[in-house]
Amino acid sequence: MYDKNNIFAKILRGEIPCDKIYEDKFALAFKDINPQAKIHVLVIPKGAYVDMNDFAANAKSDEIEGLIRALGKVADILGVSTTGYRYLGNNGRDGGQEVPHLHFHIFGGEKLGRMIHK
Ligand code: AMP
Repeated sequence: MYDKNNIFAKILRGEIPCDKIYEDKFALAFKDINPQAKIHVLVIPKGAYVDMNDFAANAKSDEIEGLIRALGKVADILGVSTTGYRYLGNNGRDGGQEVPHLHFHIFGGEKLGRMIHK
């Protein structure tokens, strides 16, 4: 069940500001408030989807395409397409998801560490 009052829903409604990197019909990208790398940006769909399971099952084809294309555009805008980057999605309890609106993290701007920390 989607919580309309989660922080990213508030950002999408313009109730809370964000440091915007990119926006189109399907996606919004903004800087993470607590960066874990030199570059740390979040890319979120505009639709109300809790997580990847919700998105994969319920999003329309154009929403799915739009989010993936936005990820590529944001990497270009950030200048990490050539240097490399990591995109990461925390999903659910074991994935450590804190905000219940689907989001991808993009990390870059430096060499990144190991893939998984426990
Ligand atoms: P996750 O653990 O994958 O749900 O990550 C949620 C991310 O959202 C964390 O990296 C937070 O630092 C980030 N975050 C929380 N609130 C805000 C906000 N208002 N603006 C930007 N990033 C935020």
